[in-house]
Amino acid sequence: MSDKEQTLSIIKPDAVERNLDNEIKEIFKNNGFQIVKEKKIQIEKSEAEKFYNVHQTKPFYNDLCAYLSSGPIVVMVLEKENAVLANRELMGATNPNDAQEGTIRKKYGISIDKNSVHGSDSLENAKIEINFFFKD
Ligand code: UDP
Ligand code: MG
Repeated sequence: MSDKEQTLSIIKPDAVERNLDNEIKEIFKNNGFQIVKEKKIQIEKSEAEKFYNVHQTKPFYNDLCAYLSSGPIVVMVLEKENAVLANRELMGATNPNDAQEGTIRKKYGISIDKNSVHGSDSLENAKIEINFFFKD
């Protein structure tokens, strides 16, 4: 048995642009996630830089931040038992080419950068990321 957790999920611009947001939300619901908060927004590049600051030394950082701010995204708080890990499993590997069958990135991801979804990688980061987008 484990407790319910919350994690942050983002449907990235490549998926929103292809009108896949409702389909992807259905996948979360069908896998037992409750979408407790959601909003469709477009962020500034400076906000993307803050959100992805853990990656600031990576060669892909600039392109990643430009990309996340390039179009509308859907930001969601997902709730389920073991939500952080369950969401990472449902998303699949960062590179859609390496993602397992049945995962969101395998199904919809275009490339390692346009990989359709973001998900928090730990409970600690989930709290930080939820607070980043949903400060109540
Ligand atoms: N990314 C990229 N090139 C890389 C590695 C990562 O463009 O070589 C992008 C990709 O969109 C990924 C994001 O940077 O989703 C964050 O990278 P991370 O390693 O945290 O992967 P994730 O947690 O999203 O699976
Ligand atoms: Mg990550």
